[in-house]
Amino acid sequence: MSQQMRQRRGQPLFILDEDTERTRGKDAQSSNITAGKAVSESVRTTLGPRGMDKMLVSDSGDVVITNDGATILQEMDIEHPAAQMIVEVAETQEEEVGDGTTTAAVLAGQLLAQAEDLLDDDVHPTTIVEGYRRAADFALEAIAEQALTDEVDDDDLVAVAESSMTGKGTGDIDAGDLVETVVEAVRQVEGDGGVDRDAIAIRARTGPGASATELVQGVISEEEPLDEDMPRELSDADIAVLDVDLEVREAEIDAEYDISNVDQLDAAIEAEESELRGYADTVADAGVDVAFVTGDVEDLVASYLAQEGVLAFDSVDDDEARSIARASGARTVGTLNDLSGDDLGEAERVDVERFGEDELAFVEGGAAAETVTVFARGGTEHVTDELERAVTDALDVTTAALDAGGVVPGAGATEIAIADHIRASSASVEGRRQLAIDAFADAVDVLARTLAENTGMDPIDALVELRSTHESAGRAGLISEGQTGQVGDPLEDSVLDPAAVKREAVESATEAATMIARIDDVISAQ
Ligand code: ADP
Ligand code: MG
Repeated sequence: MSQQMRQRRGQPLFILDEDTERTRGKDAQSSNITAGKAVSESVRTTLGPRGMDKMLVSDSGDVVITNDGATILQEMDIEHPAAQMIVEVAETQEEEVGDGTTTAAVLAGQLLAQAEDLLDDDVHPTTIVEGYRRAADFALEAIAEQALTDEVDDDDLVAVAESSMTGKGTGDIDAGDLVETVVEAVRQVEGDGGVDRDAIAIRARTGPGASATELVQGVISEEEPLDEDMPRELSDADIAVLDVDLEVREAEIDAEYDISNVDQLDAAIEAEESELRGYADTVADAGVDVAFVTGDVEDLVASYLAQEGVLAFDSVDDDEARSIARASGARTVGTLNDLSGDDLGEAERVDVERFGEDELAFVEGGAAAETVTVFARGGTEHVTDELERAVTDALDVTTAALDAGGVVPGAGATEIAIADHIRASSASVEGRRQLAIDAFADAVDVLARTLAENTGMDPIDALVELRSTHESAGRAGLISEGQTGQVGDPLEDSVLDPAAVKREAVESATEAATMIARIDDVISAQ
């Protein structure tokens, strides 16, 4: 349409800046699709228990070694807007269900690759979008169909946690203890309204290794005691959470003292000291044994508190303060003068322990609410970091399995069932949309193929065997064994994934791929 025509029809006429770069039609589509595919390709080799790890080095030389799709994509500093959408798929997946990020990113990339072929065959983008949406619905049906019908029990949870952890770069650890800890944690904070995931924290420190990971009945604070002379072991402790600064008020520092002799100087110092002393007295008089202060505490106040036998921490982060308040039953106090005994919470024990360079404060047996912390110990710093991510994933998947629709067989079995169901259903759909629906099934197949490749199997042979076993036995996955793998029943080997992880992957990958496929004009300001 010419600009004149546009104007005559009353449509807005955009006059673009000279520097604006514009790509249209097939060029726009293919550059977006290529970028999206490239990103998803970059995480493909990490999929599954035999997936490889990636080492990511930042500008400043920081090194992250991980197998976690979302982490890789986050660290990669991706700029292309379409590629960024695939990163968002992984991020959404991580936020919503905590696992399956690689699956979601690979699926999104494959849906784009298939869309490219369809566009080349002159299938209209709208037709592709409609077909993909239908196929996604079929996929969700297949997931529901695959979900195990019995109520999720502890064995299922252990299996789900274990499946989410295998293949993480956590070294040759005995995942057994770890997953038991995870399941114990989730069960402990499970109530009528489901799992209270916020009541589970994770702290990680290097140490003897993952088997030393333990479940702490309470909160671990990362702050160190403010003064050497403070007590480091307390039982039946009264706890205050203070959202204040305990330092000389600004106004008084700024006020100009007219100091002309030594007496006046002493008086000024004394006034300050007595103010600081007053803070410590207020805390001690309220009966506080341990104070968690979110603001700053001046050294002098800290030493007065130490004299009073109070254990105190400052700069406590907000999340930590909230957990401590919640667990102990303390009410967070915003003005020191308001502090009274009623505001205090209680814990059976507060212990400060040294771990390598730093100290951690364990607040255990809080009087008010069940709160637990998985205290993860890895042999080295990198292992510890990856362990923390693995434990986080495991907590999320067990929560998802309990709260959001149960579990499905893992190891590619659900993917095979999805592809099979989509193909069986596409026959009933007329026209070119059928092509798009079948293309969706091909994209899903790539997930199973990739698991096979990463396990060292021949992907074509594996896929053929998976399909025929699925046909005859109703369920077939790729069980990894040592350096290779074989087709078998994932349930026998306890490889389970939460149904929610598969659902979310299908939904977010479809959304991103359809969004990218529909773009035919990219206008970017320079
Ligand atoms: P994602 O980021 O998508 O979770 P992972 O690298 O964690 O990627 O791999 C997840 C896939 O690995 C799932 O399909 C899961 O069923 C499968 N899987 C987990 N444990 C095993 C196992 N022991 N044998 C075969 N497949 C497994
Ligand atoms: Mg995973």
